[in-house]
Amino acid sequence: MKKLKLILSLLIILALLSGLFVRNLNQNKEITRQEFLFDTLCTITVYEKADEAAIDPAFERAAEIHRLADFFDVSSEVSKINRAKANVPVKVDPDIMNMLTLAQDIFEKSTGAFDPSIAPISRLWKFDGENPAPPTSEQIEALLPLVGFDKLEADSQNMTVQKKLDNLQIDLGAIAKGYGADKAAEALKSLGVNKALIDFGGNIITLGDSPKGEAWQIGLQTPYAPTGEYDEVIGIYGGRAIVTSGTYQRYFEHNNIKYHHIINPKTGYPANKLYESVTVIADNAALADCLATAIFVMGEGRGKRLAAQYGAEVYFLSY
Ligand code: AMP
Ligand code: MG
Repeated sequence: MKKLKLILSLLIILALLSGLFVRNLNQNKEITRQEFLFDTLCTITVYEKADEAAIDPAFERAAEIHRLADFFDVSSEVSKINRAKANVPVKVDPDIMNMLTLAQDIFEKSTGAFDPSIAPISRLWKFDGENPAPPTSEQIEALLPLVGFDKLEADSQNMTVQKKLDNLQIDLGAIAKGYGADKAAEALKSLGVNKALIDFGGNIITLGDSPKGEAWQIGLQTPYAPTGEYDEVIGIYGGRAIVTSGTYQRYFEHNNIKYHHIINPKTGYPANKLYESVTVIADNAALADCLATAIFVMGEGRGKRLAAQYGAEVYFLSY
């Protein structure tokens, strides 16, 4: 009887110990999930087993932003704006209003280098099409009068937008990934997650410090190299965002000339490139996303001054 009690006690201790061990193992295991949203691979990594349950709601929140901002979906809010007639107020969702308000601020401070109303011209370039070729200068010039984000009024009191031109069209491609990453991070946080890395196609936002308790080490992708080859590694502290805009992210080649997807709204042509990528570190990913695109167009001197206005840092990489 005494022996049986001893064996039972030992078994209980073993069970307890193994339970602790498993819990401990799980605590140190990172859990990564990926989904394809915003036309890119989106990754969420959490570092506690208990936080895994927050990943789905975070992706759902991001998918909601994707649906609202999808240029190609006729039922999206962006399509609703694009179809609207001039001088007719259109009710918009709060997330769309948030993006438009930030976009307007960057449009003004970048003196038009960042301009979501570039849409008709960026579509003309057909970066997603088969065998793309550059459009003619006549085609570009015909559409340039449609570009100008000051031809869209956003009224955040009444949550409406109003266009001044029937054919003004917007594309939130240069801000939506960053904004979506921020909203995914907020969803994780509201569900109790305090350590996570959210990477939406190079639009990264961090929650808390890295699992080692220090800055997150983020590699700057070497332009045109396979994903995962880094030029430089940068340490960023928890809560900060890091976003890259690069020529290699979307481009085509025609007669040995590369044409990339970041358009100078003043000319309608791909922005002059003295570098292949611009990386911005800022307080949130939506801001960093806008700034990276804007600074790519503006160049180093003016771009650095714009970044400084937002307490952001900038890195430029050449080929
Ligand atoms: P990003 O990858 O954030 O630099 O955004 C580039 C995308 O935003 C392009 O694929 C276009 O859809 C759009 N875009 C291109 N040029 C501009 C610009 N100057 N301002 C705002 N959006 C732009
Ligand atoms: Mg951007």
